[in-house]
Amino acid sequence: MSAEKLQFQAETKRLLDLVVNSIYTNKEIFLRELISNASDALDKIRIESLTNNNLADDFEPEIFVIPDANTKTITISDNGIGMNRDEVINNIGTIAKSGTKDFLDKIRESSNAAAQELIGQFGVGFYSAFIVADKVELITKKTDNPAVKWTSDGAGEYEIEDCDKDSRGTTIILHLKPEFTGDDEYNFTDVYEIERLVKKYSDFVRYPIKMNFEVKDKPEDEPTIEIRTINSMKPLWTRSKSEITREEYDEFFKQQLHEWESPLEIFHVKAEGTVEYTALLCIPKHAAPNLYYSDYEAGLQLYSRHVFIMDKCKDFLPDYLRFAKGLVDSPDLPLNISREILQQSREVKVIGKALEKNILKQLGKLLKDERDKYEAFWREFGKSLKIGVYNSMFDTKLKDSLKDLLIFPTSKEKFSTLAEYVARMPDFQKKIYVAVGKDAKAIEQLPQMEILRERGLEVIYLTDPVDEFAIDVLRNYAEKDFQSITRENFELDDAESQKNKAEVEEIAKSHEDLLKDVKNAVGDAVHEVRLSSKLKSSAVCLVTGENSPSLSMEKTFAAMNNPMFKAVQILELNPNHAVFKKLENLHAQDKNSDEFKNLCTTLYSLALLIEGVMPNNPAELANKITELLTK
Ligand code: ADP
Repeated sequence: MSAEKLQFQAETKRLLDLVVNSIYTNKEIFLRELISNASDALDKIRIESLTNNNLADDFEPEIFVIPDANTKTITISDNGIGMNRDEVINNIGTIAKSGTKDFLDKIRESSNAAAQELIGQFGVGFYSAFIVADKVELITKKTDNPAVKWTSDGAGEYEIEDCDKDSRGTTIILHLKPEFTGDDEYNFTDVYEIERLVKKYSDFVRYPIKMNFEVKDKPEDEPTIEIRTINSMKPLWTRSKSEITREEYDEFFKQQLHEWESPLEIFHVKAEGTVEYTALLCIPKHAAPNLYYSDYEAGLQLYSRHVFIMDKCKDFLPDYLRFAKGLVDSPDLPLNISREILQQSREVKVIGKALEKNILKQLGKLLKDERDKYEAFWREFGKSLKIGVYNSMFDTKLKDSLKDLLIFPTSKEKFSTLAEYVARMPDFQKKIYVAVGKDAKAIEQLPQMEILRERGLEVIYLTDPVDEFAIDVLRNYAEKDFQSITRENFELDDAESQKNKAEVEEIAKSHEDLLKDVKNAVGDAVHEVRLSSKLKSSAVCLVTGENSPSLSMEKTFAAMNNPMFKAVQILELNPNHAVFKKLENLHAQDKNSDEFKNLCTTLYSLALLIEGVMPNNPAELANKITELLTK
């Protein structure tokens, strides 16, 4: 096949722009990224060699790094799996992760400093080459495939052509930008500089990283070339915890897991019980942009006797802990174990259970001892734990271990645990009040909030669609039921509220006809129209049936293509509001008049709007309001 010029996928192009325009302050990390890719390619070929006898037995995996001052290049080559033409186009020209577009939009909107932080969560892998190079050549060969050469200056296009390469693997040649070949801050053509970087960033890589060194016995001799392996290759997790510095752990996770920033929490566990294993896990600082998309690949790396077996093993941790990353090394698991056997493995279950327990325990400690850090964790991964609660519907033990890890914003606190909330409840309050809305501001403006504020009662804010589902599964905490303030059965327990309620019930009795006719005017959209004793300055509000989905659940179900789950809506009127007097008057004059009916339907539409639901016919509503305004 001849040379072909191809365009980068639009998102790749934008990401490349960001990289080339040097959002990264740390220019050195390109080396770590390319070496990690080489190491992954070696893993892949080694695993393939377990089942494919054609792959040579004498295969000696290695990564070569060659800085060259004459050509102003640095070359990284491996004898790993290599790529064929299609793979080069798919792997190097496109970014497949979902959430990429949203992510890039977010970056575009943020300032440079914020963008730097954001892009760290994404990890640009191979493209990091363009931080330091103005031209990159990638020459690669997969067994039984012709070799391919890929070239690009990172501007928008790349060229791809057949080429000659004798052996399997990938060679990447970076033509360095002038500022990286000089003697100032960076000189990536200098062997000793590169040796230092390999030691710093890639010491734990499990394959030898080799470099050529010129050596002379005597100063006047011609130099001879000596090949040295730079990295120690000693797996970090086999060392004892007390000997490992935080920096070493951080570098390890960056190298091993392609993380771009130091993790938030680290777990290094050694166990010698019925199953022997070592696990080295972390919680990253930030959630991956596609964490909750189906293409997010969760799972831990699996090693047996320090030999890598497979990546992305999902069987250790439950799905709700999908954010945890790391590895498990166990001599009790055989080297040639398949994914299918792994799923059935008793050892994997034992290890997984222990790790889950360990993570939850450490999170509990974090919540108790380092609240700020826990809140930072929560902002990124709280959703996962709430999904865990939702999934614990039939697992009381799990529910019990998760409920005390939940924190929510409330009307009084930035974040509160359920225990803290309950401790603040006044004696007369029997239930835990929760309110659903798209954010704190939307909730604060709910009509029901006014009276709660007046009484000094605290409300837990549920702003994430999953919150309500999780709370539904919990049902209660410390024997106190959860009570949504927008459910029909919401009541206040203090004496004054009970008195108001009795008064309103009296008014309702004498207005049965009015309520019936309002209901008729609004139609089947509402199940009932009644009076409320909990409204202050608002004329109306909408509540939902005690056991029906709520309005926001209805929205969530609709988004998931389950439109049959509908909220049972109840329209509540404030009998002390001027609008109610107007309704009464119009009703008394002529209950069949358009004026009365229009007021009823308009009030219903307004109640929907307050709940953040768009009425069926917004234009009609606008007309009616305009009409009312001009009266
Ligand atoms: P990531 O490593 O996060 O998948 P990269 O952009 O670094 O993202 O690489 C994209 C893909 O290109 C890799 O997943 C791999 O399939 C392929 N690739 C990159 N470098 C190599 C290499 N040295 N050998 C074989 N394949 C490679």
